[in-house]
Amino acid sequence: MIRSVRHADIAAKAQQAPGQWVLAQTYPSGVTAAAMARCVRLGERPGGTAYRPAGRYDARIDTVPDGVSLWVRCLLDTPAVLAAGLRWLFDTEQPDTAVVTHLGMSIPGAGNRWYGLAPSGADGQVVISANVSRVTWVRDDDTRPANPLGYGELEWLKGLIEHLGYAVNGAWNGYPGISGSISLAQAAHPSLTAAVDRYRAGCLAHPAAGVFCGCEAWKQAIAAAVRPAYTEVSR
Ligand SMILES: [Zn+2]
Repeated sequence: MIRSVRHADIAAKAQQAPGQWVLAQTYPSGVTAAAMARCVRLGERPGGTAYRPAGRYDARIDTVPDGVSLWVRCLLDTPAVLAAGLRWLFDTEQPDTAVVTHLGMSIPGAGNRWYGLAPSGADGQVVISANVSRVTWVRDDDTRPANPLGYGELEWLKGLIEHLGYAVNGAWNGYPGISGSISLAQAAHPSLTAAVDRYRAGCLAHPAAGVFCGCEAWKQAIAAAVRPAYTEVSR
């Protein structure tokens, strides 16, 4: 007999620990579990209405000895995480020993997304990229993503960045691709730019190894970089 759960309780538990997978229920059939996983992601009936708004929760299924388990997790709130990313780019002081790659850092987003924070991307500008985390491909055609960025999604992100007070001066790619980029008018924090310059110069102790140096000092310089801080989650 299958113990039934109150999905409102599972949703509440997941919300208390964003990002952590919470076991919801084990179903006798994989079809049922997969259908329920879809309802969780979309906040749809039957059963998924506790997981609203759509995209707020992620779901995965696992085959176990007595059936197929459904796990859910609450995703970090994209606007809050993005705000933290912008603070990291423009307002965070990096130690004068820190090294940050030209790719910068990445932050997670709601709904199967991650965002890249490049301090010095195209033409030396700050570039924020939106990316699909887990890409699935159209059957028999591994050049066409089945779950690209949404139509208008990059425009939404641009609007969100502008709403947070930053001027955008370019945008490219996006739908129907799996990545899109937005460039910002403001330069990154000078200490962050300096950390990227130190990366580009490579390990000074071992010039032959350059940016790929594996020495302890180079690894420590990379580890010394202050990362985006995004603990806050709002609903
Ligand atoms: Zn070295």
